Amino acid sequence: MGASLTFPAGTSPKFSALDLRPGQLTGRFRKCGKPKCHCATPGDPGHGLSWFLTRAVNCKTVTKIIPAGPAVAQSQPQLEEYRRFRHLTHELVEVSETLCEAALERPMTAAEAARKNL
Ligand SMILES: [Zn+2]
Repeated sequence: MGASLTFPAGTSPKFSALDLRPGQLTGRFRKCGKPKCHCATPGDPGHGLSWFLTRAVNCKTVTKIIPAGPAVAQSQPQLEEYRRFRHLTHELVEVSETLCEAALERPMTAAEAARKNL
């Protein structure tokens, strides 16, 4: 995404306004399962942080691992942008629904009916 945008030479944006990524990013410590590892000790936080990006696809939760470091910083604005986009589209649909409802309450003019082939 964002490939159609051009930026001045020498600038390299971390993300563009068009990068939308759905999902929930969570950092987790994990246990490797080896009995002699420090992570097997009670109270040990485990290995980490590891970052997981989860999202629902066809009613199933799909998890992707995001490598710790720059990838996390790069993903966060993309996830934020997607949330903003979802919020805005939700608002747009709400307004549109109100307008559709209002339009039903006022009779269609002959000109409008003709334009719509009714
Ligand atoms: Zn371990």
